[in-house]
Amino acid sequence: MAYQGGGFGGPREMHKAVCSECKKECEVPFKPREDRPIYCKDCYSKRKNEGR
Ligand SMILES: [Zn+2]
Repeated sequence: MAYQGGGFGGPREMHKAVCSECKKECEVPFKPREDRPIYCKDCYSKRKNEGR
């Protein structure tokens, strides 16, 4: 099976979402939940680095 952009042990289903922080459209590898904030890659890593 040819899957473009793979290489991490299988295809990932990407879901369209809007970042709760910067309101930018992004895709997340998990299903977005309405009761949870979604963060784009930038905001996610920013939050992760800040940690608190
Ligand atoms: Zn963002």
